[in-house]
Amino acid sequence: MRPRVIYIGGFSRSGTTLLQRLLEQLPGVVSLGEVCNLWDSALKYDDLCTCGESISRCRFWGEVAERAFGGWDAIDLHEVRRLRLLTDRARHLPELLGNTRSGRLQATATAYSSYYARIYAAALEVSGAEVVVDSSKRASLACCLSRSAAIDLRLVHIIRDSRGVAYSCTKKISRVDSVHGADLGTALPVVTSLNWVVHNVALEILGRRGLPTHRLTYEGFVDEPVRSFRELVSFAGLSADVDTTAFLSDDHVVLGTGHSIGGNPMRAQTGRVSLRLDDAWRARLPRADRLAVSALTYPLLRRYSRLPG
Ligand SMILES: [Zn+2]
Repeated sequence: MRPRVIYIGGFSRSGTTLLQRLLEQLPGVVSLGEVCNLWDSALKYDDLCTCGESISRCRFWGEVAERAFGGWDAIDLHEVRRLRLLTDRARHLPELLGNTRSGRLQATATAYSSYYARIYAAALEVSGAEVVVDSSKRASLACCLSRSAAIDLRLVHIIRDSRGVAYSCTKKISRVDSVHGADLGTALPVVTSLNWVVHNVALEILGRRGLPTHRLTYEGFVDEPVRSFRELVSFAGLSADVDTTAFLSDDHVVLGTGHSIGGNPMRAQTGRVSLRLDDAWRARLPRADRLAVSALTYPLLRRYSRLPG
């Protein structure tokens, strides 16, 4: 049976980790974090799983690798990286977003997606869950996965105010999974603005092409988390009767532990965490940058500001 996958797409620093951490609190859900990081940082440097073990020592990931490939050593990482270069890059988006379902790109995207499909199916088997969550964010990867007949894909597209994203991307944040001191990387507000537009437009087009999509804003979600999360649960095809009160209220969330990949600091948080709107950009993003980001991302910014959470 095709694994049912909730793919959380959105630009960096837009709230994708928050949604992933909330979904993983639900019964019937197995959350893997940013699977796109598996082929590089996780396996190359043996970074940390959120359970605290390195990926190679984590029992959950070890079982997933065994079922999916016959063990970590059996994966041809060189081939995965080669396929990724040929498909999973922003420069391939125009072709990936086209309607053509044949030819070299289709074959390459299908071959690349097959590595993900095997990971997803194995994670469902090992966990006994019904739904797997991948918060890889990338629009190009969402395009590749949407071309695979082996995956039942649904897209959650979260958008954050471009000025908040631009400000956040100027700050250096250490990766919580890194064993060699890597960080999440920074970018100039103008560069972030252009990438924000490309990324969000690409995810929007995927929805228009027929991929089941649930779109929401970070600001709207934090404003009404309980209502917004119930909509998300329904979209994921999970039981509407599920009790979320044990871990979610309108001002906080209670997070457990899991086995996910990725370096955002929230990925490793456990226990009670306040849900507050992060709008520090209003006070701290310099006026010139604020004007530049607003201009470069308008009218998308204006349209998204009307979306509910
Ligand atoms: Zn683990």
